[in-house]
Amino acid sequence: MIVGVPPVCYFGMVFEFLSCCNLAALSVSCSCILPWSEKGTFYGLDLGGTNFRVLRVELGGQRSSFDRDVAQQAIPPRLMTGRSEDLFDFIASSLQHLVEKGNDSEQSPIIKELGFTFSFPVKQTSVSSGILIKWTKGFAITDMVGKEVAGVLQQTLARKGLNMQVAVLVNNTVGTLALGHYHDADTVAAVIIGTGTNACYWERTDAIIKCQGLLTTSGGMVVNMEWGNFWSSHMPRTSYDIELDAESPNPNDQGFEKMISGMYLGDIVRRVILRMSQESDVFGPVFSSLSVPFALGYASMTPLMAAMHEDDSPELTKVARILKDDLKIPDLPLKARKLVVKVCDVVARRAARLAAAGIVGILKKIGRDGSGCIRVGRTRSDTKMRRTVVAIEGSLYTQYTMFREYLHEALHEILGEDIAQHVILKVTEDGSGTGAALLAASHSSKSVDNVQ
Ligand code: BGC
Repeated sequence: MIVGVPPVCYFGMVFEFLSCCNLAALSVSCSCILPWSEKGTFYGLDLGGTNFRVLRVELGGQRSSFDRDVAQQAIPPRLMTGRSEDLFDFIASSLQHLVEKGNDSEQSPIIKELGFTFSFPVKQTSVSSGILIKWTKGFAITDMVGKEVAGVLQQTLARKGLNMQVAVLVNNTVGTLALGHYHDADTVAAVIIGTGTNACYWERTDAIIKCQGLLTTSGGMVVNMEWGNFWSSHMPRTSYDIELDAESPNPNDQGFEKMISGMYLGDIVRRVILRMSQESDVFGPVFSSLSVPFALGYASMTPLMAAMHEDDSPELTKVARILKDDLKIPDLPLKARKLVVKVCDVVARRAARLAAAGIVGILKKIGRDGSGCIRVGRTRSDTKMRRTVVAIEGSLYTQYTMFREYLHEALHEILGEDIAQHVILKVTEDGSGTGAALLAASHSSKSVDNVQ
């Protein structure tokens, strides 16, 4: 069984996150992420999970004033494992559609600027280019690995006759941080907990080992941690995690992500129920549907898990319906349904606590965990800590109430009430795409100063 993990384990991990912070796959200059005065129409393309978004952002020349138009589409599963040409054609067609809808002439001589949010591990080579290192979250388009991502998009746009320029290539965490910071200058980090998971934070350049000696106009950079690939012997890994990893399309990769994110949690639940049904008669016979990987849905399985977990009806009718419709297990007694809810609870709570440990790791790295605050009196409660905002996005956090509550619970537990009250997790809706459009605006007419 998955058992509760003592808090000390998470404390150990917080420290290990400190070393993870500086080993980021990339860092992007963020010296001009705030388009204070840019005007005009900018586009965002957001590719990285189950859905794909295209956005048009109208900037009015004043901070906090912009309009946006968003179109969202589910990515057909065949495109996630097919040829890069088909995926990029699909992306470009969606963009073309939005451009046409906005009466923005495709043939206009003015080149339109585009921010491309591509949320997979990338070796960033400039603010507007980067090489795909590997796919995650069920994507597996082999001909794309090692290619320059923005270049492939740029070529596709040209082929379609779209007069557009990829001004920035960013991870979704970086887009979220940009929008978070645009609205609230105390935003220092961004976290995504959706189909996949990741975080980035703002760091002083002199604190980034691989940037030492480099001069930037702002003195800082955004570090994309790619924390989904974090690994530690302190991680409370069970036989279910090990089996899930071994049977995944990317074994030995994204260990942290596989214990936290929406793509995998439901499948951990399924594996626990399967084992219980094999080793006891609590669920009656072993139902073959339980042996089917991702039987509770693929990337979108978490809504089913959340619905079962949060079923507050006395007879657990939602649990009964989901078990019957999605897992083909009819007529389970109430006692067994309660057990299913308990399994969801343990799996969600573990994930939330792991994510909280990651967030505290970042805060510790940048001195926002209370260690760097000013003591104004004699006790720990007489300390002054700077307001610290973490922009957060992703359906697991925004739509799964129990997960969110467990994450907050763990943050308070690790940081202590005095410090936790100054740490604000702020939902930054559509941050990844909108942030990329804002970054495109801020980089459109300026030269890029520094990217490692
Ligand atoms: C990717 C990250 C991304 C995260 C959240 C992970 O699988 O590697 O680049 O930020 O998912 O979408």
